[in-house]
Amino acid sequence: MTIEELWQKTLGELEIQISRPNFLTWLKNSRLVDNKEGDAMVALPNHFAKEWVEAKYGKMILGILRTEDSSIRKTTYIVDGSIVRKIEPKEPEPVEKQLAFNELKNDPESGLNPKYNIKSFVVGSSNEMAFAAASSIIDAVGEKYNPFFIYGGTGLGKTHLIQALGNEIHRRHKGKYKVKYVSSEKFTNDVIWAIRNKRIEDIKNMYRNIDVLIIDDIQFIGGKEKTEEEFFHTFNALHENNKQIIISSDRPPRAIPILEERLKSRFEGGMIVDIGFPDYETRVAIIKVKLQERGENLEDEIINTIAQKIQRNIRELEGILNKIVFHRTHHSHLFNPTYVEKLMEDVVTQSATNLTPTQIIKAVAEFYEISITDIVGRGRKKEIVEPRQVAMFLLREMLNMSYPFIAEKMGKRDHTTAIYAFDKINHALNENPAFSQKMIMVKELVNKS
Ligand code: ADP
Ligand code: MG
Repeated sequence: MTIEELWQKTLGELEIQISRPNFLTWLKNSRLVDNKEGDAMVALPNHFAKEWVEAKYGKMILGILRTEDSSIRKTTYIVDGSIVRKIEPKEPEPVEKQLAFNELKNDPESGLNPKYNIKSFVVGSSNEMAFAAASSIIDAVGEKYNPFFIYGGTGLGKTHLIQALGNEIHRRHKGKYKVKYVSSEKFTNDVIWAIRNKRIEDIKNMYRNIDVLIIDDIQFIGGKEKTEEEFFHTFNALHENNKQIIISSDRPPRAIPILEERLKSRFEGGMIVDIGFPDYETRVAIIKVKLQERGENLEDEIINTIAQKIQRNIRELEGILNKIVFHRTHHSHLFNPTYVEKLMEDVVTQSATNLTPTQIIKAVAEFYEISITDIVGRGRKKEIVEPRQVAMFLLREMLNMSYPFIAEKMGKRDHTTAIYAFDKINHALNENPAFSQKMIMVKELVNKS
């Protein structure tokens, strides 16, 4: 048997054992490139596919190979970028491109990421108030809406808008204003670090030197006493000096249960706007902008289908878009509107009404191939920490459960663990496209359960 034949047989078997979308996504462009001294070498078209296949299907593949050729003892996985290019010479590599786009780094000084800009922010009925208020701040920094508090559900554009606002203030005023963007996680860490190292004065000076302070996801500060205290003083110091403060949160100040009363009323003294769910036209426009940024395009019919199906989370919209573009490149012969609908089906049937916490935990455990006991247990191994955090994130995102309840469900932990997990995963989703892809697949599994 040649190595080609051996691999064809293996693929045939894999195709039966795993779902069709997974097979097409991960294995269709794989090859067996060598089989010597019991070591079978499998090549995959990119780094992400390699890691994924190795981790997820490695055992299965070795098992199948060994039933075909008992001399095989192990497998080695390599990346061979030429695989895809050989097959489809003209098609670009969407995943790689998208990585390049997302690899734009935060500026270490301001914390702002240049990928967020005002021009790429699509304005529609759901965010026009927020956008108008933000725009008017650019020409009246610190004078008009101060603080500027913007709230809305996950994935609806808060981070994009406040970062774009920071970038635009910097650009328009040619660096006259010192802008600083921090997540509330970062702010909290700074304060904790300063307390431990007796450097609280440094931190104070650092933050109080800023002209425009942008704090993302302020809800995570709530309840951390020392951090709140420090934030309150920073806030006052800046505010008294007419420095601009911009804050985002997933809910209005009143609804952040553990936030101190005096902070709530401070926030209410400024401008509070919300961002809602985008309407259909806005979703279509956003898809088009995202495609353009990646140098891709899709047929209108397909764009419309996506916009119809994904209604409540723009981050998810982007994730699906990436997935579709990826399939279009790699499985062009199968690609048509029906295929696209099928790709989306799994992700979209979020029947949140009858989904239970146990289903989510079970599906996450299954996806990561660990046991439920591990996921809710006390172990601290790396392989368990990520799935545990993912489960907590999904309990929050898909079921809107409270943090104390999530912590209870996940093995009677402290509620701050759940908050931390949510923040961590949210952050990873923003920063790491490979992780977003993974998350989409986890959700598919949840929805199928
Ligand atoms: P949030 O901070 O509210 O959770 P993000 O700002 O991170 O959401 O947005 C999630 C993704 O959706 C980002 O990639 C962002 O660029 C995109 N996005 C959200 N709203 C818009 C919009 N109005 N126009 C263009 N892209 C948007
Ligand atoms: Mg955000």
